[in-house]
Amino acid sequence: MAVEAVSEILGRIRAELPGLRLLTDETDRESYRSDEASYLKSQLPMAVALPESADQVSAIVRLAAEHRTPIVPRGTGTGLSGASGGIEGAITVAFTRMNRILEIDRANMVAVVQPGVINADLKAAVAKEGLFYPPDPASFEMCSIGGNIGTNAGGLCCVKYGVTRDSVLGLEVVLADGSVIRTGGRNVKDVAGYALTHLFVGSQGTLGLVTEATLRLRPAPPPKATLLAFFADTDGAGDAVERITAAGLVPCTLELMDRITIRAVNDAFHLELPDAAALLLIESDLPGVAAEGELDAASAAAEAAGAVEQVRATNAMEADGLRQARRLALRAMEKLGATRMEDVGAPRSKLVELLNVINRVVAERGLNCGTFGHAGDGNLHPTFWWQRGDAEAEARVTAACEELYRAAIDLGGTVTGEHGIGVARLPFLELQRGPGAVRVMRQIKSALDPLNLLNPGRAI
Ligand SMILES: Cc1cc2nc3c(=O)[nH]c(=O)nc-3n(C[C@H](O)[C@H](O)[C@H](O)COP(=O)(O)OP(=O)(O)OC[C@H]3O[C@@H](n4cnc5c(N)ncnc54)[C@H](O)[C@@H]3O)c2cc1C
Repeated sequence: MAVEAVSEILGRIRAELPGLRLLTDETDRESYRSDEASYLKSQLPMAVALPESADQVSAIVRLAAEHRTPIVPRGTGTGLSGASGGIEGAITVAFTRMNRILEIDRANMVAVVQPGVINADLKAAVAKEGLFYPPDPASFEMCSIGGNIGTNAGGLCCVKYGVTRDSVLGLEVVLADGSVIRTGGRNVKDVAGYALTHLFVGSQGTLGLVTEATLRLRPAPPPKATLLAFFADTDGAGDAVERITAAGLVPCTLELMDRITIRAVNDAFHLELPDAAALLLIESDLPGVAAEGELDAASAAAEAAGAVEQVRATNAMEADGLRQARRLALRAMEKLGATRMEDVGAPRSKLVELLNVINRVVAERGLNCGTFGHAGDGNLHPTFWWQRGDAEAEARVTAACEELYRAAIDLGGTVTGEHGIGVARLPFLELQRGPGAVRVMRQIKSALDPLNLLNPGRAI
């Protein structure tokens, strides 16, 4: 963008919004260059706006539209698909200052929040009222509700409580021309017109900027009972998940870590998890003795699948530690080199096949990879690492990921279970969804954002 054009749009924003924090210094903008998918080529945004109200967001978007300037909405930048990284010549709108919980409405079991609220802060605030906000990405202490809505984030308890979409009842959204709409609200049942709320959830900032969300709460569940099952091969772990699912059990956590991941977590955080080929973390939050009953049934399924050892957490601290170990898996791998975390999924009855494909691709290509993830949802995160700067190794990882995407699609699965298409998986969207479905997505995009200014080149 020409220097004069940049100074004209920024000048107009400053004139119309004198109170707005607008970062233009190169060092400041650097922090907004990429998200957590740092292996992707990133660009420096022209400016970063940190609005404090929907009115400010609306004015920024309106002025940007007048100047044909793209906008990148951003939460806290923990996304893993490149969708909140900077775009040259674009303004990044980061929601970190819009971080207020506006209301906890007990009568309707909803919370109304600004998009910059950190997931963990919302959980803690509603817990004080005996309530529960389920969406639980492993990054919950860092990521924002707006980002969770942008990605339709998953996490550790989706197997029982669903993904972010299942907890969003209504939104306030700034559209591409700066106008503001409301979708949904506090009604549990509401089928008036198209389901616009759910159209925006998971749209990765390409259809509108969320400035407020009405979220569904639940009564706080009882403390969890926790079981760890260890296996001599990943087939056994996958088989156990398939058996648990087929038995009609719905544990609140059903997570997998393979041997490489267990070792990385042990090394990075000085833990002493046994050196098995795979482990499953299985939890129940049913009331009273029902929790132990559910774990007994899961344990029987694990044994039938060949578990070599099973242990139960003896207290809440031990259980929290195990859950935290799983949450830290990506951070543990990052200590080994540059990383690329993948996000493939398959129907749960095909988990063993998905694990086998991952193991085969990694072995045949001689790559470093640890696999962990939300096995109960059929969603795995094979995470590759290589020496920083080794372009040849990185190219081999890219080729392996492309093979995994094709294999997941062949299994009736998905190239992304929860992180989103973003930039990372763009060429594979049509392969998974088909040209007809992608054409409809493009029509929706151009109806809502005819100038293609909202997060262009991401998601579709
Ligand atoms: C260690 C680690 C563990 C993780 N574990 C999980 C996990 O278990 N499950 C999971 O799903 N993800 C996980 N993630 C990925 C990431 O945390 C989630 O995708 C999260 O939802 C991103 O939130 P964010 O605030 O960082 O959003 P960002 O990365 O800033 O943005 C994500 C997307 O949302 C859009 N967006 C942000 N705010 C708005 C808004 N107000 N309006 C419109 N669009 C907006 C952005 O444009 C972008 O497309 C993990 C990441 C890390 C680093």
